[in-house]
Order: sequence, then C-alpha cells, then structure tokens
Amino acid sequence: MDYELERLLVNVLFILLPIFVFQMFWVDKDKVNTELNKPAFAIMLSISIILCMSFPIEFFPGFMFDLRQVPFIIGALYGGYYFSSWLFITIIAYRFFLGGEGVYVNFFVVSIISICVPLLFEWYKKIKLDKKILLSITIAVLSSIFTIFLSHFVSQNPIEYKTISFNYFIIQGLSMGLVVYLVETMKYNNLVRKELIKAEKMSILTQISASISHEVKNPITISQGFIEALEDEDNKEKRREYIGYALEELKRAQNIIYEFLALTKPELDSMKSINISQELFYSVNVMKPFAKSRSVQIEVEEIEDNCMILGDRQKIRQCFINLIKNSIEAMETGGVLRIKALKNSNKIHIDIVDNGVGMTPNEIKRLGTPYFTTKEKGTGLGMMIVFNFIKKMDGDIEIESQKGKGTHFKISFPLLKFQPQ
Ligand code: ADP
Ligand code: MG
Repeated sequence: MDYELERLLVNVLFILLPIFVFQMFWVDKDKVNTELNKPAFAIMLSISIILCMSFPIEFFPGFMFDLRQVPFIIGALYGGYYFSSWLFITIIAYRFFLGGEGVYVNFFVVSIISICVPLLFEWYKKIKLDKKILLSITIAVLSSIFTIFLSHFVSQNPIEYKTISFNYFIIQGLSMGLVVYLVETMKYNNLVRKELIKAEKMSILTQISASISHEVKNPITISQGFIEALEDEDNKEKRREYIGYALEELKRAQNIIYEFLALTKPELDSMKSINISQELFYSVNVMKPFAKSRSVQIEVEEIEDNCMILGDRQKIRQCFINLIKNSIEAMETGGVLRIKALKNSNKIHIDIVDNGVGMTPNEIKRLGTPYFTTKEKGTGLGMMIVFNFIKKMDGDIEIESQKGKGTHFKISFPLLKFQPQ
C-alpha cells in the first residue's frame, strides 16, 4: 500500500479509537448525558488530534497534512465554542511545537473553522442524521481543499496534479461521515437505554399502584367507621379513643401514599453515601400491599442497622422493588418471602429468598438479558435494570434457584469505611 494511504488510514484509527474508548468508559457507564457536552469528550478529541498530528504526510517540506480537522470539526459541531476554543489551543500549541512553514496556513484554517463551524452548533442539533452526515462531510472536504490550495499558495509550489493527494480529500470526507454516524448511534443507543429504564419503572408503578390504592382504602374505611360511631357515642372517654383510632388509620393511609409518591420522584443520578438498611426497609414497606394482594407474607428476619454504602437512593430502591416484585410473582399460590441483611467486616450481604416457581439453569443464564420474560404481562427489563444498577454501585449479585423449589438472590455491596455509630 502506498505510504500516503497507509498514514491516512492510521489517522482514521486514531480518530476512531478515542471514540470507542469514550463509548466504553463514559457512555456505557452512564457518566455522560446524550448531549456529549462533557470535558471527557473534549479530552478524547484532543488526544485524537495530537495522535493524528504525530503521523502526518509531508506533501512538500514544512507542510503537514493529516486528519486533525476531523476531530476538530466534530468538537465544534457537538460542543460549540466551548469545545472549539479548547481544541484550537491544542492544535495551535502542538503545531508550533512541530514547526515548519505550514504553521501559518494551519493557524489560518484552524481559526476559520473554530470561528465559523460553532455558528452551526444550535442548528446542527436539530437536523436529521443524513443531513448531519452530509453537512459534516461538506465541511471536512471544503476545509481540506482550502488547506491544500492555501499551502500551495504560501509555499509558492505550483499546483500540479501529482502533488495533490486525492486520497486526502476522500479519506477526510469519509472518516468524517463515519465518525458522525458513530457518534449519533452512540447518542441514540444511550437515549433508548434511558427510555427503556424509565418505561420499566412506569410499568412497575402501574402494576403495584392498584394494590396500593386498594391498601389505602382499608384504613380510610376503618376511620370512617370510627367517625360514624362518634355520632352515637356520648361517653367522653370512648369518643377520645375513637378519634385516636381514626387518626391513626388516616396516618397509615397517608404513609402509604407518601411512600408511593417517593417512588415516582425523578431520578437525580447521583452517588451519595446512603443507608442501605433504611432503603431495604422502605422497599419492603412499599411492596407489602402488593404481597398481600398475592397472599405472600414478607418476613424480615434481620436487617442490620446503619449500613452505609455509596449509591443512588432511587436506583437502589428500584433494584429491591424489582427483586421483591419478581419473588412475589414467582409465588403464584402464595408463600413466604424471607429478607435478611447482615454485615461483616467490609460488606453488607442481603438475601432475598422465595419459595416460588424457581428457575432452570438455562433461565438463570438468561436472567438480565433484555426482554427475557416468562410472564404474560412481563417486560423482561426488571432484572436487566437490577444487574445494571448493582454493577454501577460496585455490588455483586448471585442467584441460586431450583425449579419448583424457589429462588435465593444474594446481593452484596462494599460498605463505606466510616460508619456512623
Ligand atoms: P419480568 O418480571 O417483566 O418478567 P424480569 O427481568 O424482572 O422481567 O424477570 C425476568 C424473568 O426472570 C421472569 O419472567 C421470570 O421468569 C424470571 N425470574 C425473575 N425472578 C424470579 C424469581 N424470584 N423466581 C423465579 N423466576 C424469576
Ligand atoms: Mg420483574
């Protein structure tokens, strides 16, 4: 393969590599929103630029050509002036360091890109994928043509067919299109994943809300009975007692509603030190009405107090609720659900044990893959979310299950070093 083509292809690799790294370490770990306006993205692009510039082609002495403009234009399109100024400094500094006459041409072209391209930033966000690709390719090809002509002009080399590498225009354009396509797919996948998680949460909420509203009816009917009884009661002592009962029942109804509402709060996506014992108690309480509606008894054997972990409150609740809900649903004819949380020196171990339908080894293997469900109205997303969140909080999950006997979920999280006394 000729030398030019080889170098250009190496450049393409340098552009793609940071994008894959970014996908693996930031996007997959949900450390970035779909707008990609995070410094990590800018740093990846800077690395890409520096690598490209380290492997240029010198068409004529002092003038270096490489694909640095691709990550640069990407930065300007996706991050506006904030990114373009960052990357501008990177390119200029490194180019001056490398030296040669081409420095001035580079300065001129890069300045134009960093001023003009971010003007499209707002508009670019709104257009469709095919237009984005077309636009970015156009910018990339135009800027490469402009650079070549300017270099010839400055170096006073005559423009000859021989001295112009058409590979340069073509590869710059194609790699630009490819990168835009990859970035857009990355954003789209991330968005879909978030939507899925939201959809699963909504589906669980609607399923358990029926049992919760049913559960609220009870205390209200009881307090209604006491209030009605007040009418015919003259004894002051008795009246006070009735009022006490009625208030207590109303309070119970209020608590159920409050707990349910806390579940619907939007996620804040933040890792904090949280008391996991409290969250487990909370989740058990929220699920009690659902368990009751399915004749399942929840037995909390022991939950050790004040176990602090680093995690996200809403997410940990969603995990426990998904697990408890699955266990309850597995006990089709009722049963007992046992819950325990004990800590040892550096971990908290949580056990959720049911005596429901259980799973075959094959079913256990498929657990957590999206859309795997054996239920008529199942979504097959609950366990995927559980695995996902537990992993994110540095936890572990183990499953033991026997068909027809029941299932045992063992979850553990590293405890925070400084425990409150
Ligand atoms: P869904 O509950 O919507 O079916 P999940 O991802 O929560 O989706 O669960 C996937 C499947 O895993 C369930 O359909 C069920 O077959 C199986 N499963 C999960 N938990 C249990 C359990 N405790 N006992 C038996 N099977 C279970
Ligand atoms: Mg489920």
